[in-house]
Amino acid sequence: MTCAPCLRDGIFKLDLLKEVEKRIWPTLMQVGFSKPKGKITLQLVDRGTLTREAARINASGNLRGLTLTKYKVVKGGKNPGTTFDHRIYVLYGLPYVECISVLAHEHIHVWLNERFIESPPPVVEGFCNLASALVLQKEKSKLASILLENMEKSESPVYGAGYRMMKQKLAQAGWPALLNELKKKSSPP
Ligand SMILES: [Zn+2]
Repeated sequence: MTCAPCLRDGIFKLDLLKEVEKRIWPTLMQVGFSKPKGKITLQLVDRGTLTREAARINASGNLRGLTLTKYKVVKGGKNPGTTFDHRIYVLYGLPYVECISVLAHEHIHVWLNERFIESPPPVVEGFCNLASALVLQKEKSKLASILLENMEKSESPVYGAGYRMMKQKLAQAGWPALLNELKKKSSPP
């Protein structure tokens, strides 16, 4: 079953997905996120591929996006340090606004991965959803408010309760302090 208005502005092409990526960055940077060091490869995939890739890393749920990060640690030599290679899968055909939300969420996974920040799933996914909410609030459309409402009401202990917990933390601490608090959980290899 498809919804005609959604299908009309669905993201089926990679160049459109890259437009979305450009659109979210100013908003993310405003609150203190910085662009990744590593290269990000964006890929539109079908439901089957997304589920299969998710299973490989033990992720589950009704996924619309997925981030895989590979890293290499080089000690000594001319260029010591850690290099990253990220792959973001996005379900193809999502409405434009939904794609904005998904890509913002996945880019925060990249941000966390490059800092080796590990935390329980409700913290990590709730934090990533804060970025989704942030970009959705800038979109003054009906679908944006529906997607925001879905997160508010979600019964998922990870994506719903985790989001509401992190939202409360954000309200108390603000973005700079919240980002610093997460950076303290960083444990590089
Ligand atoms: Zn996530």
